[in-house]
Order: sequence, then C-alpha cells, then structure tokens
Amino acid sequence: MDAAPIANGAVLVDASGRIVAVGPDAAVPVPPDALVQHFADAALLPGLVNTHTHLELTGFAGMAEETDFWAWIKRIIALKQTRDEEAFFHAATRGIRSCWASGVTTICDMGNTGSVIAALDALGGAGIVHHEAFDMHTEETPVVMKRFSREMDRLAQHATGRIAIGASPHAPYTVSGALYRAVSDLARAHGVPIGVHVAEPADESALLRDFTGAFADALRARGVERVSDEPISPIAWLDQHGVLTSRTLCAHAIRTDAADTKIMVQRGVAVAHCPRSNRRHHQADAPVARYTDAGLRIGLGTDSEVSVAPLDLVAEARAARRLAGWSAADSVRALTLGGADALGLASTTGSLTPGKWADIAVVRVGETTTPDEAILASSPGDVVATWLGGRRVH
Ligand SMILES: [Zn+2]
Repeated sequence: MDAAPIANGAVLVDASGRIVAVGPDAAVPVPPDALVQHFADAALLPGLVNTHTHLELTGFAGMAEETDFWAWIKRIIALKQTRDEEAFFHAATRGIRSCWASGVTTICDMGNTGSVIAALDALGGAGIVHHEAFDMHTEETPVVMKRFSREMDRLAQHATGRIAIGASPHAPYTVSGALYRAVSDLARAHGVPIGVHVAEPADESALLRDFTGAFADALRARGVERVSDEPISPIAWLDQHGVLTSRTLCAHAIRTDAADTKIMVQRGVAVAHCPRSNRRHHQADAPVARYTDAGLRIGLGTDSEVSVAPLDLVAEARAARRLAGWSAADSVRALTLGGADALGLASTTGSLTPGKWADIAVVRVGETTTPDEAILASSPGDVVATWLGGRRVH
C-alpha cells in the first residue's frame, strides 16, 4: 500500500512480530534460523481493517428480517435478551475468529455487552471497541453517566496490547443532547476515541428537523417531547454537543449535505462506510464520492451479520468502488491503509512497511489480471492464511 505491487515478493518478520524487510524474494534476507513459508499463486497484502462491526451479534444472522428499521432494532433488542454473558463472549469469540479467517486483522466494534473487548483480550486480537451509551431522558443523564463511567472503568482492564477502548454515544434517536455532551467530555478526559452511528435512517433526520417520524412517535410515547429546539441536521447536532473531533469515527453518514461535509472536514472526523448495510436497511447510499473529494479519511465496514451476512469486507469494497468511482488501487487501499488511517492506526498497521506490525493476509489469486483486481474479485474463502503481529491466526 506504500508502493507498487512486487512480483514474487517476500516479507521478513522478526520474533517480536514486526516487519523487518519487504521486497522481491531475491532481495529480502533470510536469517539462518528463519521459518520460511512459500505461497504460490497468492497475494500477500496487509491484514484488512474492518472499521464497523457488532461482533456481539454473531450468530443472529437471518434472525431479524424486518424491513422497517425501528422494528428491526426492537427485534435485535429482543434477541440480545436471550443471551447471557457467557453466550455473548462465545459469540464474540466466533466473530473475531471469522474476521481473521477472512483476512481481517484489525476491527473497530461497537456494542454494549463488553463481550467483544473481553474476547479480543482473551484471543490476543487487535482493534478498537466502542462501548455504547443510550438514554433520551435528559434528567437521567447523571445516573446514566455514573453507570457508563463504571462500565468503561471495568472494560478498560481489557484495553491492553493492541486493544483500545472507545466511547460510543449510540445514535441521535437513542442519545439526548445532554448525554452526547457528557460522553464526549468523558472520552476527552480519558483520551479515548469516539464512535457513533450518525445520519443513517431518514427518520433520524426527521426527528431532529421537526420531531416527526417513527423515532419521534416512539419517544413521545415514552414522555420525550422534543430533541432539538431548532431544526438541525444529525451532523450539526453532534457537532453542537462536542462529539466531532479528529478522534471521532462516523458510521454510515448517509444523509449529509455540503454544509455537513464542511463540518466533518473542519473537525477532521473519519467515516466508516458500510455500503451494503446502507442499502439493506435504508435503500440509500452515502455520498462517498463527495467524502473522497473532500479528503475525509474513509474506512470500510461490514456492520453486523444481522444486517448483511456473511461479513465480507471485500464485497463492501466492490460496492464502495461502484459508488465512489474509486480505482482498484483506491479500493484496496480503503480495505487496508485507508481503514487504518480512519482508526488512527496507520503508523502501526495497514501496509507492509518495515517497523509496522506483521499483519498479513494471504489471498489466493489467479494470474490473469492485476493484483488489485484479483484481490477485489476474491471472497473470504480465498484467504489462505492470516498473521496478526507475526502470529498465525488463520
Ligand atoms: Zn452499526
């Protein structure tokens, strides 16, 4: 990702799991005690970066088929109530292993059970896990924050090695302005990143514009009379509450205009683009060409397998390419270094560069086309092997 593809290439990895040398096979040194592995008809590429997952939902694929988004969310809540802590941990473990099997080495996850960060810790994985906060009743914010802060403290014990914890005020239809402000303040005080769902369903925009739509109806039934005093866009609403910074990742970001994009650029946010989930739930596309032109950092995300199954990040890249008009090289970059950059991890992963972690995926490819096109044509079953920090995990 930092140079042209190398024919008959080789990567030398040291005992600490870092890349030492990359180049044509003949030019890469082979220490006498090196373990040498050879892969014919394959491409070595940086481990993929999935910037938006919900791995605690692993196993629920096909169990929430509602087309209405609010009905779908309510189904997910009901499904989650059928699992205990141990079941979530096992689901998260299966989800992480299946990411590795598809060549993904870095994940950025959102959830509220704490199971994904615990499983990543147990497995020695890498990534960012955003813990979710919810509540629409502003008078409850101090109580909610007390609990959230305690949960963050408890989960932070798992933020070791290459695992980071983040805060996720969930979405404008589940989080009040006061809670957005409080969670953002807490994230800044602790120096942790923020992950949000924003500008996703049409009813979210309606909620903030004039308190209409399905979310407004549901909130009114629960005693919430309004969210914003003035009509405002989801992006501007988050900005008004201090949520958007260069350490904020915006998942989906479908319903934005030029003014919103300007705010996103000014704050330096990154986007987790989930093209197949956007289509499945909202029959809508994010303005990813506009984001690309604006110079925003863009990673790709699968969302959960309850949205689109099975998780296939390369399929997301193909969809993003069609929407954005990216080249094959741009698309492969979004899968790897672009995703790492969106997560603030580009100095340690995302390219096969000496000094970075040896996060490597080996993908079976034919010889009939360019390496970038061959990778984009691949499916998870074509991933022959995956290394995470020099450790073979698939
Ligand atoms: Zn999501």
